[in-house]
This record gives sequence, structure tokens and C-alpha cells, in this order.
Amino acid sequence: MSAKIIDGKAVAARICEELKAKVAELTAAGKQPGLAVVIVGDNPASRVYVNNKKKKCAELGIYSEEHALPESVTEAELLDLIDRLNRDPKIHGILVQLPLPGNLNEQLILDRISPAKDVDGFHPVNVGRMLIGLPGFLPCTPAGVMELIKETGMVLAGKECVVVGRSNIVGKPQAILLLREHGTVTICHSRTKDLGAVCRRADILVAAVGKAELITGEMVKPGAVVIDVGINRNAAGKLVGDVHFDSVSQVAGWITPVPGGVGPMTIAMLMRNTVQSAEQSR
Ligand code: NDP
Repeated sequence: MSAKIIDGKAVAARICEELKAKVAELTAAGKQPGLAVVIVGDNPASRVYVNNKKKKCAELGIYSEEHALPESVTEAELLDLIDRLNRDPKIHGILVQLPLPGNLNEQLILDRISPAKDVDGFHPVNVGRMLIGLPGFLPCTPAGVMELIKETGMVLAGKECVVVGRSNIVGKPQAILLLREHGTVTICHSRTKDLGAVCRRADILVAAVGKAELITGEMVKPGAVVIDVGINRNAAGKLVGDVHFDSVSQVAGWITPVPGGVGPMTIAMLMRNTVQSAEQSR
């Protein structure tokens, strides 16, 4: 193996340590940051994510409350809860765990969250602000990826950046953040022709696809920074990313592991957004 590992767990721990001190300051000034987490139904993966977020809040001294609603909840009831959380002065961040059950209109619900409490960065106002370079909440996973790239010391200006995946929560915002740092950005998706040839151009390759080990060593430029956002189970039931770690780590200069790469950064960025929101609140 030639690639250096980018240790997301360690970077996240460092960021959280800094946040902990800030939370203590804010709490002493009567402004303890507060996060409300809304979960609907009993999706086991969502349950794990919500528990991890609550645990991290407790570790950092951030107040958190969970609103667990049955799958039968109506759109009107959910909107009413969000309205109440929008008005609640002890809540600085509102997170609705996705995916929502199919009978609920996800966009309608997310749009109801006040942009000032939208710590996931999914509200169209924050997405728009990011796009035109105004301050606002950045979506957690792409923001975490940017921190991991920074760890390598690579200067992004003029570099070839390839993002595989164009979802609203990862791929698209990732491309915008790379562009903001002056990368030359290409976005790939399910209809991209010759994915390997495009990926091989990349100095920085971000995979956010949801297909186990799709990116293999021959698709990677020697020395590239490879960031693996994917969380999948392979045929043997093992947790793997979108990147075939064994072959890619022979070629890449830097690589993130799964688990222990992007995952911990996503939670750290959520905590950072919540603290930022409390700082900005009156
Ligand atoms: P989506 O399913 O919303 O998007 C997947 C994207 O990959 C789509 O744009 C799709 O293209 C593209 N795609 C699918 N197949 C191919 C292919 N063969 N070649 C090229 N592109 C392809 O997924 P998400 O963005 O929500 O998540 C991606 C992965 O990241 C998942 O494994 C998810 O679990 C993980 N994830 C991890 C997080 C973390 O904290 N570590 C946070 C969020 C997600 P098209 O648009 O054409 O359909």
C-alpha cells in the first residue's frame, strides 16, 4: 500500500475538542447550543444515526432533544412540530432525519425549517447562499470532505476534481464547495460514459454513489486524493465504501477509510453548525 490514510476519526475528534470549549463558553453566557432531532418511523439505520448524533451532543455539552414520531404521523402534525421548534429559543438547530416515509413530502417538510436553524444545510435558502458564496450553513457531509482534503495539504486551485454522484445532499453541494476553492470540477452520475476515464483525470476524487467498491485502482490517477463517502454492505455483509480500498490504496496518494473517514466528519460538521447557530442567535 502506498497511499497515506486520512484519519477522519482523528480530525473529527480534534474539531469536536475545539467545539467543546466553545460550547462551555456559550453555556456560561446563558446560550447553551440546542439541537432538536426529528425521526419518523422505525428505520434501523436512521435510529443508529440519530443515536450517534445525540451521543455526540451529550459529549460536547450541547442540549439535545429527540422527537420520535410514528410512521402514521400526518404532514400537518410534522409541520406543526417544526413551527414550534422554529419558535423555541433553546433550540438552535433542527434536523429531520431522512429518509421520511413515502407518504410525507420531504421537500415540503425541509422547507418549513427556519433557514436560521437549518443545521443540515438542506433548505433552499442555504443551498442558494452556498451557491453564490454567501455565509450560511454548509451541508455536513460535503463540508466534512473539504476538511479532510485540507488535511492532505493539497492546494485545490486549478486541480482536477471529480465528484461521482449528484445527489442534493452530497454530490451537488460537494462540487460547489470544490469550485469555491477554485478546483476544475467534473460531476459524474449514472449516465456518465466511461467513468474510469473521467475518474483517472482527477487529482481529487470524491465518490458518493452508494455502490459497494465501484471505484477500483485502475480508475485512479497515481498520487490522487481519494475521498470515499459511500456506506455500503458488500456481498459478505462487511461495511465498505464506494471505493475498492485494497486496489485504490496501491495507486492513490491519500485515501479515507470506511468506516473512520467521512462518517465521523459528518457528525462533527453538524455539531459545528449547531454551535455556529447558537453563536449567531440573539
Ligand atoms: P443517492 O442515491 O442520492 O445518489 C447516488 C448518486 O450516484 C446519483 O447521483 C447516481 O446517479 C449516482 N450513481 C449511481 N450509480 C452510478 C454509477 N454506476 N456510476 C456513476 N454514478 C452513479 O446517494 P447519496 O448521495 O445520498 O449517498 C451516496 C453514498 O454516500 C451512499 O452510500 C450513502 O450511504 C453515503 N452517505 C454517507 C454519508 C456519511 O456521512 N459518510 C452521508 C450521506 C451519504 P443519478 O443521479 O444519475 O441517478
